Parts: sequence; structure tokens; C-alpha cells
Amino acid sequence: NDFEDYFLKRELLMGIFEKGFEKPSPIQEEAIPIALAGRNLLARAKNGTGKTAAFIIPCLEKVDTSKDHIQALVLLPTRELALQTSAIFKELGKHMDVQVMVTTGGTMLRDDIMRLYNPVHVIVGTPGRLLDLARKRVAKLEQCSTVVMDEADKLLAPEFEVLCEEILNFCAKDRQIMLFSATFPMSVKRFKDRNVPKPYEINL
Ligand code: AMP
Repeated sequence: NDFEDYFLKRELLMGIFEKGFEKPSPIQEEAIPIALAGRNLLARAKNGTGKTAAFIIPCLEKVDTSKDHIQALVLLPTRELALQTSAIFKELGKHMDVQVMVTTGGTMLRDDIMRLYNPVHVIVGTPGRLLDLARKRVAKLEQCSTVVMDEADKLLAPEFEVLCEEILNFCAKDRQIMLFSATFPMSVKRFKDRNVPKPYEINL
């Protein structure tokens, strides 16, 4: 397979090739077409497989930059991971007009509120701060139709699980959920059974 086979926007394809990706990795080959088709996804994948681009590419492809609202949300368990992931969004989306915002604890809430006065298409962050912004109705998620949960085994640790569920409830009712996890403990299975209807499952 080739990245050209997915009929991606030209600007996105440019970002992919400039990043030095020549061909999709096995997880990308499986996940990208499913994600582009709008199906829920549950992928067992370790770091180093190319899983980050496997969800970033479909997110970028689906964003409609002629609209100003938040369209995709990526949840991660740590600030460090959120920063890394938003950096890759910006690299792959370099030639697109996609506005990516990162939001995590440990920064000024007021800066995030100010940022959200301007258009944001993709929001990448950790659960606590995101929920804070959603509850305040500063981050308006009701038209957010794509939700990614990366490192779900860590993200769904007991103290985070209810936060993630509440965040999901702010999103569009017909949202697509993509769950990536290296392992599948009970917490992830339970979350899947409650919140992720009929996912396509990838096991690598
Ligand atoms: P990840 O599993 O998302 O942490 O990615 C692991 C590494 O693989 C990162 O350095 C990526 O930049 C790289 N990578 C991801 N997809 C591809 C690809 N299709 N071709 C070459 N390298 C890739």
C-alpha cells in the first residue's frame, strides 16, 4: 500500500512525505482506511509501530478548515505526551490551515481560555484541564465528531476514567472513537463496552 491510495488531501500528503514517511506502517495500513470510513476503532499497539500517525492522518484528513469549531479531540495521560502529539499534528499538517491547540494541567487556565477565543480545530490534551474547559463551556465540544484516546491503559486509570467519560458526554452524539492501548486491562474493556459501540479491532 501507499499513502496515495487513501486519496488524502494534497496538503496532507505533502506533510506526510516531508516528514520522511514513504509507506504506511502495518498499523497505519489497517487503521487509516477504517478511521477514514468513520468506524470506531480499538487498536492494540505499542510505541514504535507508527500508531500516532495512524490516528493523526485521519484526524487531519477529516477536519474541515472552512469551519471554526473543534472537530477532533485527542486525550493523552500526560502533559509530555500531549506536547509530543500536538507537535506531530503540526508537522503532518504543516501545509494545511488546521489549528491545533494543546491543553494540559500545569499551565495558566487563562491562557487556554484566551486561545479558545480564536478558532481551534483539533484539541490535544490531558483529561483534567480538558474537562475544566468543557464544563466552563469555553471548549465547545458538541460538534466534536472524532475522539482519540491514546495510551488508554494509562488514560483509564481509576482517577481518570470518570473524567474521560464526562468529556465524551460533551462531544457529538454520533462521534467516532479511536482507542489505542498497548495492553487491555479490565478498565479499558469496561470503558469500551460502555462507550465504544461495535469497534473494529486491530491486534498487532
Ligand atoms: P509511534 O509508534 O507513533 O511512536 O512512531 C514511532 C516512530 O515511527 C516515530 O519516530 C515516527 O515518526 C515513525 N513513523 C511513523 N509512521 C511512519 C511511516 N509510515 N514511515 C516511517 N516512519 C514512520
